Amino acid sequence: MTTRESSDALVFFGITGDLAYKKIFPALQALVARDRLNVPVIGVARSQFSDAELVDRARASITEHDTLDPVAFQKLTGLLGHVWGNYTDPETFVRLRERLGNATRPLFYLAVPPSLFPVVVKNLADSGCTKGARIVIEKPFGRDLASARALNAQLTTIFPETSIFRIDHYLGKEAVQNLMYFRFANNFLEPLWNRHYVDNVQITMAESMGVAGRGAFYDETGVIRDVIQNHLLQIISYIAMEAPSSTWTEAIRDEQAKVLRTIRPLSTDALVRGQFRGYRDEPGVAANSKVPTFAALQLAIDSWRWEGVPFFIRAGKALEASRTDVVVEFKQPPPVVFPQAAPRGANYVRFRLSPDVAIDLGAYTKVPGEGMSGQPVELSVVAGTRQGVGTRLGAYERLIGDAMIGDATLFARQDVVEAAWAIVDPVISDDGPLRQYEPGSWGPPEADALVAAAGGWAPPR
Ligand code: NDP
Repeated sequence: MTTRESSDALVFFGITGDLAYKKIFPALQALVARDRLNVPVIGVARSQFSDAELVDRARASITEHDTLDPVAFQKLTGLLGHVWGNYTDPETFVRLRERLGNATRPLFYLAVPPSLFPVVVKNLADSGCTKGARIVIEKPFGRDLASARALNAQLTTIFPETSIFRIDHYLGKEAVQNLMYFRFANNFLEPLWNRHYVDNVQITMAESMGVAGRGAFYDETGVIRDVIQNHLLQIISYIAMEAPSSTWTEAIRDEQAKVLRTIRPLSTDALVRGQFRGYRDEPGVAANSKVPTFAALQLAIDSWRWEGVPFFIRAGKALEASRTDVVVEFKQPPPVVFPQAAPRGANYVRFRLSPDVAIDLGAYTKVPGEGMSGQPVELSVVAGTRQGVGTRLGAYERLIGDAMIGDATLFARQDVVEAAWAIVDPVISDDGPLRQYEPGSWGPPEADALVAAAGGWAPPR
């Protein structure tokens, strides 16, 4: 198979699961609507749904999370099939091979509990399903550096690296791609984008929701594994990397790997862990759980460009608001011309990644009148929110479409995954202090102390 030959079947493991319901069915309808999906879609899971029940679930998913497009949905149901059975039973995979019929280049999408990745991969290989195939592995890729390496070792005995797609749906988000685009499609940032002008970088990923019925999953995961090791370190790689030599997949991934490798492994004194009050009462959560639902941390990048510039991350659940943004704060101008020039934190670039997509430039302008005093202003470019099918690509739609044609640019390469694990590995099993915080707050006060020397967290927008 050439790397860009399109897959001729899509096999979705976990079709009855939460991810499929929230994200995948809408993405499949959108792909069909754009004429980018026209091959059999085979769902595999344990539940013994009838054909009609599976179609009903797809319809309910799309109605709840997107808009039903009757024509595209009809086409999608024509493509949809299933194989029911346990992933631990080799017989399930024998039936899958039969169900694949003449397909010789299937794409397997594993949206299953991570503990089942190895057995699914083994049974796929033993049943002769993997020849010519591609595989998408949902996050998390491993639970730490050692398990990520072990999973990769198993995968690479069966699939070449070009056929392995480690999904991090953040990379498929328009707003995240815009980070890299904005940096390298413009010239005015580059002279400022370094330790001489940047004071600090802050990334906030806040969710007002708690664990929303997924307590059992979350209690095995925690905030560092759930969003920091993957989504937020990928974002840092785009913010901090050197210019890739081109948009070739490996050129971009080389630069991501390089910059992540220059980030110092995290130490416990640069980390504040928190847990919201009431978390332990959530269904599925252990009564004495020490799993963090919040973390704030400071990273140091030992590179020529970033030496001495602190990169702060804070992420958590049950916080005051839901938003994700990146704020790059510039140093203050010398107060020699205007003593009341921009104060600390007034000059910045803010990338708003959700709920809306925007770029804001923070500046100081003169207050009209005789004096020479200033006021903060913000120049904003707002790209808006999702405008419906046909206007903007959703992340899963984009990523499934890319995997189907073998384009791995927006997927994580193994060395990038390992470099990210190496950063958090020293603290991943840390059971040091766990600060309680009130739901609806911005986390424990110790998180504010972490950034005090850098002037505090940038005010929310
Ligand atoms: P769920 O627990 O909701 O779904 C798991 C799926 O796997 C179900 O379809 C279930 O089938 C099937 N399954 C589990 N065990 C077996 C088995 N032994 N044999 C056959 N089928 C089995 O998980 P999610 O959908 O939430 O998550 C799936 C993956 O996606 C995970 O890796 C998760 O980390 C990742 N992910 C999830 C997100 C989300 O928002 N849910 C977000 C990002 C990533 P059945 O119902 O028939 O038991």
